[in-house]
Amino acid sequence: SGTGIVLNKELQRLAEESFPLCAKNLFKAVKHEHHLRHEGRRQLQLYLKGIGLPLEEALVFFKTEFTKKPGCNNEKFEKDYAYGVRHSYGKEGKRVDYTPHSCMKCIAANPSKGEYHGCPFKTFSEEALGAALSQMKIEPSKVTDIVKKAKNKHYQLACSDVFEAVHGGEFIEGGLHHPNQYYEQSRKVLNP
Ligand code: SF4
Repeated sequence: SGTGIVLNKELQRLAEESFPLCAKNLFKAVKHEHHLRHEGRRQLQLYLKGIGLPLEEALVFFKTEFTKKPGCNNEKFEKDYAYGVRHSYGKEGKRVDYTPHSCMKCIAANPSKGEYHGCPFKTFSEEALGAALSQMKIEPSKVTDIVKKAKNKHYQLACSDVFEAVHGGEFIEGGLHHPNQYYEQSRKVLNP
């Protein structure tokens, strides 16, 4: 179900099956670059917390990826990044249990070059979005439709169309408003 505990070893499969494009993009970036800048770390950490990845798993996940980057060892990770992970989980600072970003919040972000947070339906070029959707094995005519919706700033509708296309026509109940809602609905459909 969408509410159980998720482990690191399941993340790759879950990212492929059930992450919305925003989370797929951050997940891919951290796996590729072994780094994410502040806003990206924050968006991904809160999202992963939301899908049920426990704090200890999140610390291992980010440490494993970040320390693959030359110049980042365990000590640097502890010093520069572990606090942020614990903070996202409400274990540091004011100990607020921060909620994962909504679509509105992601859409409002303006990532610079080299940053991967925000909503890809807004931030990707038409070419990059088309390529990402084709990689998800969405048929070309549908890809064209979805890219057009995104270009017309209907980001959440475009993302809902992706959900339908990759879930055999099932749609998100009540309309899409949150990346974690996308994930939960996906798990419901794929793993009832
Ligand atoms: Fe993520 Fe929402 Fe954008 Fe979809 S519409 S990619 S769930 S922020």
